[in-house]
Amino acid sequence: MKHAQPKAEREKIALFAKPNAQNHLLSLKLKQHFEPNEVYLSCGHVQGRHDWGVAREGPDKNPTSFKCPICLVESPKTIQLIMGMESAFHLDSEALDYCFNPCGHMASVSTVRYWSRIPLPHGTNSFHPVCPFCTSLLCMDKPYVRLIFQDHCYDS
Ligand SMILES: [Zn+2]
Ligand SMILES: [Zn+2]
Repeated sequence: MKHAQPKAEREKIALFAKPNAQNHLLSLKLKQHFEPNEVYLSCGHVQGRHDWGVAREGPDKNPTSFKCPICLVESPKTIQLIMGMESAFHLDSEALDYCFNPCGHMASVSTVRYWSRIPLPHGTNSFHPVCPFCTSLLCMDKPYVRLIFQDHCYDS
């Protein structure tokens, strides 16, 4: 008992640890999955990369559609997820439950909503919302995707 921290001290540490705890857990969760992790554009399910459900066409066998193994919805593409590391672009420390389309940078709901509503100068006379992490132009019809993690998908 002599080495136990005073209660007030412990509570202070818990308070400091809290805001990032969720994102930290999420990044751990991601690492536990097969890498790289990809999200299906249409449904938002997150999966490790695999070849199941990929329709290919043409002599180059270019993938034309991706069927989600969880809900069987077909997506025109999958997006590889990337942790958005630059903390200045995050509006809050909520869970990284969304990613920008098409680049796959992950952020919280308020962060993706915020950046997808700000048109930035692009080229000489056009304005377009971009991902703050990599300045990719966001898709107009679907600037971000809500991620659905299947926690027990790979549990054996
Ligand atoms: Zn799905
Ligand atoms: Zn990006």
